Amino acid sequence: MGNNLKAVVVGAVLGVAGAAFAQGTPTTPAAPKAEAKAAGKAAGAGKAAATAGKTEVTWWGHAAFVVKTPGGAVIAIDPWLTNPKAPQGATWPEAVDAILVSHGHFDHVGETKALAQKTSAKVYGSFELVSQLGLPEAQGVGANVGGTFTVKDATIHLVEAVHSSSYQADPKAPSQYAGAPLGFVIEIANGPTLYHAGDTGAFQSMALIAEQFKPTVALLPIGGHFTMDPAQAAVASKLLKVKTVVPMHYGTFPALTGTPDVLTTELKKTRSTSKVLALEPGKATAL
Ligand SMILES: [Zn+2]
Repeated sequence: MGNNLKAVVVGAVLGVAGAAFAQGTPTTPAAPKAEAKAAGKAAGAGKAAATAGKTEVTWWGHAAFVVKTPGGAVIAIDPWLTNPKAPQGATWPEAVDAILVSHGHFDHVGETKALAQKTSAKVYGSFELVSQLGLPEAQGVGANVGGTFTVKDATIHLVEAVHSSSYQADPKAPSQYAGAPLGFVIEIANGPTLYHAGDTGAFQSMALIAEQFKPTVALLPIGGHFTMDPAQAAVASKLLKVKTVVPMHYGTFPALTGTPDVLTTELKKTRSTSKVLALEPGKATAL
């Protein structure tokens, strides 16, 4: 059922994009503005997405995403790139400007260190976590809730999450305190404002995040057990006043039972106007 829905939603997104692409092809300099815009949108949804002017989001399964902005910033979030839902055979991003790590648990730190070493990207996270990752000093940006950072055309705000955070550098040693868990708001010039909630339950201050940053797309955990379930994510979407909810942190382990179709039902029940956009791992989607 979940897979069916995912297929329908993804199919609808690609279908619309495909239709627009057909309409807008071939695009000539004389093409009307609206048509050129539609063609650009379509190309962004496909593989040739290198389209200028669009923001592209690729889900790597679980809480891992890669965001590419119109100004060329590449931002990886919670890069557990080897998680069970990661796209099969996909190569890791070659160039990354920033890696955002919401908290210290293994399913969020993931391959942060290897990706940082490979790409020289800066790593943003809580001070206590970043100082334990063993990164070169210039690459680790330890910070906390309230911090704001600029990466090319993206402005990144560190916000609250209601969860816990510890980090185990050595599997034989006990976990260490890793500071406050975080969420991230990413404001993109000429693009959407994304909110990646990290691992969290729903909390009243999501209304403050809405007031301060006006996110349009929320990447919300729906699996339950360690985070919000679909019913709570529906409440969160109302507090956040977002147009679109991208579900994450579900289906990776048996305990994470929430599904996008249950989220759709719960959004209707709460009379939320947010729409579900269930991404397929590895497929770049233009937002
Ligand atoms: Zn998690």
